[in-house]
Amino acid sequence: MSEKQKILVTSALPYANGPLHVGQLAGAYLPADIFVRYHRRLGSDVVYICGSDEHGVAITLAADAQNTTPKAIVDFHHPRLKRTFERLNFTLDYYGRTSSPLHHETARAFFRVLHDAGYLSIHTGEQFYDSSADRWLPDRYVEGTCPHCGFENARGDECEGCGRWIEARTLIHPKSKLTGATPELRNTSHWYFRLSELQDEVKHWVEARDASMGWKPNVLNYCRSWFKDGLRDRPVTRDLDWGVKVPLDGAEGKAIYVWFENVLGYVSSTKEWAAEQGDPERWREFWLNRDCRLFHFIGKDNIVFHAILFPAMIFAYNEAVDEAERFVLPENIPANEFLNVEGKKLSTSRNWAVWVDDVLDAFPTDYLRYYMTFCLPETRDTDFSWYEFAERVNSELADIYGNLANRTLVFIQRYFDGVVPEPGESDDAARVLGSEVARLVGEVARSIEDFRFRGAAKLMMYVARAGNKYFDEQQPWITRREDPAACARTMYHLCQTLASLAIVSEPFVPASAARLAEQLGIPRKTYEGWLWEDAARDDLVPTGTKLGRTEVLFTKLEPEEIERQRAKLGKPLKTREEGPVNVLPLSEDRLDIADFTRLDLRVARIIAAERVPKAKKLLRLEVDLGLEKRQIVAGIAEFYEPEEIVGKLIVVVVNLKPAKLMGVQSRGMLLAATTVEGDGLRLVTLDGDITPGSKVS
Ligand SMILES: [Zn+2]
Repeated sequence: MSEKQKILVTSALPYANGPLHVGQLAGAYLPADIFVRYHRRLGSDVVYICGSDEHGVAITLAADAQNTTPKAIVDFHHPRLKRTFERLNFTLDYYGRTSSPLHHETARAFFRVLHDAGYLSIHTGEQFYDSSADRWLPDRYVEGTCPHCGFENARGDECEGCGRWIEARTLIHPKSKLTGATPELRNTSHWYFRLSELQDEVKHWVEARDASMGWKPNVLNYCRSWFKDGLRDRPVTRDLDWGVKVPLDGAEGKAIYVWFENVLGYVSSTKEWAAEQGDPERWREFWLNRDCRLFHFIGKDNIVFHAILFPAMIFAYNEAVDEAERFVLPENIPANEFLNVEGKKLSTSRNWAVWVDDVLDAFPTDYLRYYMTFCLPETRDTDFSWYEFAERVNSELADIYGNLANRTLVFIQRYFDGVVPEPGESDDAARVLGSEVARLVGEVARSIEDFRFRGAAKLMMYVARAGNKYFDEQQPWITRREDPAACARTMYHLCQTLASLAIVSEPFVPASAARLAEQLGIPRKTYEGWLWEDAARDDLVPTGTKLGRTEVLFTKLEPEEIERQRAKLGKPLKTREEGPVNVLPLSEDRLDIADFTRLDLRVARIIAAERVPKAKKLLRLEVDLGLEKRQIVAGIAEFYEPEEIVGKLIVVVVNLKPAKLMGVQSRGMLLAATTVEGDGLRLVTLDGDITPGSKVS
């Protein structure tokens, strides 16, 4: 017997700066777990790796916004993310974290090899600096207009508008995230990765992977546009205290660029997994094995890093080391597009998002997994809709899958003492059912192998449909009296269909599939030992098998439950744990009470609001302060529609010097809170009835 196929699957590492939402689930995670579960059923030697990305400015920005340390942020979010994946019933072999010492060691060793091979060279160049905060502004510390597509809120590392990986200093109208000031360019030294020298190799490699190898057109097209522009050398170090320290002399205060080390998190996590298995060298059987099939599951915003940067790093590394130490390159990088929510772009700062833990608090995991499989943005952006969620659960999981299981098992419990009957001689109808199920089993497999998971789930449901059709046509409720042998045959074959369903539905609804096997009277070990190909058999459940307890697999959802979930959209998060609450290092500056009382804070009612023409961020408000009315200009237009805030009671600083913003006079400043993620604002509003003009202290 030949050695088992080695399969290594990775899902993009989520930043440990917040909870997981359905957009992420649809991108890099759910498809990977379906794929992995399928390959485990094939009997392959599969390792599935993910972990928290704990470095980079996504983390330090969150720490800045919450007045805490990056470590407090990642220590808070990492265990929660890990728990979320457990709740999702993922079969991850290892969920690591990039702050682990082994990861730092792995990344530093890799960096050094590339440096010694001449692929990293030091250059002095201009980087943004915020002189009022006295800090460098790497990556997302700067925002501005994208030089490629004109998107106005492009971040200093990536543009969400066009998905490009950009260099902060090319931004138009740059602004510091720390102070809002226009940053200055200052010289600093960084190590640049000589990507330009690797263009031919990477291009050749990508070009050889056309759609016939299963690469998605979106990934190929994206790469081609990069090659057309030409790969340029990129700085891969940053002026940051937080991260993997650059392992070279003269690199104090510099960290390796997060995207130059987090991809190596896949490697270090595999090493940690191997050590945990008691076989520390076993990671080599995957990473250093050209026959291992490697798959990176990602969202489209990560294409450049997985299809260009990481392969380029591997090419450079492999050139420098002995044959036996060379890394495998990915066989495929199935990137998904974006998921919208109820027809609008998902936005975490406005809480126009559906949070995975919220859904799992309210519904069984399989409901979410099943519905999400149908809205995977495999070839284009898709939409999460709560009504569709209920519709899929009720009319497919409950009415088709659950119904087949329930009507079959209840029938056997009632009329066959709960024991799988003798099939007797087969007939045409049973053969047709058997071959239809076998055909579908093959089709589901092909779809999963081609990364068409939506299609696969649909075909899986056809197995249950075929069973229901057979049940209806055979009319066991009639044959029970008129032709008991035919009735027994019908029920026997339905049990076989249910067993097949318990195998092919496992990648999608694993908990329900296991429950189905249990209800069929299949011992857990036997069920786990079934291979994918067994699903095509017609004799998995032997005659005489005593059924387990029959229970309803899927309860239907009520409209009120769905309304309750839907109503959460766009509402401020109230009860969610937002971040580490126990650590709040305050600034050194301490105020006397007199300093505070110099501020004249008053209650105001917003009586009118409108956008300031040509100013994307500004609203002009008219506020009632009791004795007088005033005009103030507030930078909240990205977070509130004018009409939704009229009537609100807010707090205004009334003794500020008047100012002009975009030519509009502003007499006062309202109080607002910055969201934990640092990218949203929420008005400070007052509870209950209070007369405008009342003093706040
Ligand atoms: Zn852009």
